[in-house]
Amino acid sequence: MNAPTALPDLSHLWMPFTANRQFKANPRMLTAAKGMYYTTLDGRQLLDGTAGLWCVNAGHCRDEITQAIASQAGAMDYAPGFQLGHPLAFQAASAVAGLMPEPLDRVFFTNSGSESVDTALKIALAYHRARGEGQRTRLIGRERGYHGVGFGGISVGGIAANRKTFSGALLPAVDHLPHTHSLEYNAFSKGQPAWGAHLADDLERILALHDPSTVAAVIVEPMAGSTGVLVPPQGYLERLRAITARHGILLIFDEVITAFGRLGAATAAQRLGVTPDLITMAKGISNAAVPAGAVAVRRDIHDAIVEGTANGIEFFHGYTYSAHPLAAAAVLATLDIYRREQLFARALELAPAFEQAAHRLQGAPHVIDVRNIGLVAGIELASREGAVGARAAEVFHKCFDRGVLLRYTADTLALSPPLIIEEAQIGQIFDTIAAVLKEVA
Ligand code: PLP
Repeated sequence: MNAPTALPDLSHLWMPFTANRQFKANPRMLTAAKGMYYTTLDGRQLLDGTAGLWCVNAGHCRDEITQAIASQAGAMDYAPGFQLGHPLAFQAASAVAGLMPEPLDRVFFTNSGSESVDTALKIALAYHRARGEGQRTRLIGRERGYHGVGFGGISVGGIAANRKTFSGALLPAVDHLPHTHSLEYNAFSKGQPAWGAHLADDLERILALHDPSTVAAVIVEPMAGSTGVLVPPQGYLERLRAITARHGILLIFDEVITAFGRLGAATAAQRLGVTPDLITMAKGISNAAVPAGAVAVRRDIHDAIVEGTANGIEFFHGYTYSAHPLAAAAVLATLDIYRREQLFARALELAPAFEQAAHRLQGAPHVIDVRNIGLVAGIELASREGAVGARAAEVFHKCFDRGVLLRYTADTLALSPPLIIEEAQIGQIFDTIAAVLKEVA
């Protein structure tokens, strides 16, 4: 199909997480993608500094994935996943399990990060109940955490704007750890900041308040992406791990952004050397070519639920499209590319050049912090008086006009390019930002 070149009627589509009126007054439309580039409606090439939405880790429109999806669509478009199976679903689960830290080798498929989060929270509750600890119903998230948009996800999430409209309908038994961001102690840190491990100790205070025996799980992003790139302080995740283990509480890493190479390993858990009990994922699992997500679960957690049920369905949960044949085909083709091209190792190798290029922005106008890990960087700008986000929005627009796609949250610019990026393209991204920052008031 040829890429469209004319603007369609924009009125019917209610766009997600978008300022609809502003967008429709000044639409930025993408019509094609290949490798590191998008093509815009007006025919310009746009260097993808964000891997779409942190998801196209192998670069766009990879032939192997496209062909796997197309041939699966022709062979068997859909198969029910309830009480029936198809071989690709099992193969895809084995392939995902093979990349997870031991012993997280049981895999439940979903279609998105939000579904993965709600699935993981439900598995945590089901596990405790199966072991006769049904009183463990409390869930603990973290301020500034993003765990998608399901009611479970926004309840444990800590982004105020995502919660406030629905505040009366959030899950009741939830508490939050403090976030780990500190410009005072950690500005311009490279990799994991030195200050902040003690913030994990706040979990002990929360547990004392509620009684640890009522708590089912703690969920955190090992690196918080959507809130504006918060890299975990050295020793912080280790402390969360130790405290949760001591109290029989499950630790869930939400790796929807970090899984599949973003930090230079299959998972952040492996890169940072801390193994949780469950890992949620989506995005890079299928290179975003087809919606797909999954939860990897410690084997004995799976067994407690599955073996612990006398007969019949063990876990009353699942989606019509769990392990959809097209998704399973895309997952297998994607993981094959990651393996053949050693893209996780490539991300690790490129990380120092990426870090250097990002930190060259220290001293550029408005820049109050640069933080990075793997192929992720956050560049925090001073906010304009009474207009949080306005400066970053302007930088975003100007970079877009100059052929570079970035993201922004409030006044933090976020970069997370496909792992196939070349060093010259890394230079182009940060040079463009540097030039634009000089022009922005
Ligand atoms: N969890 C994390 C850590 C995410 O970054 C995201 C999306 O960015 C989600 C969950 C939600 O994923 P989705 O938009 O696929 O539902």
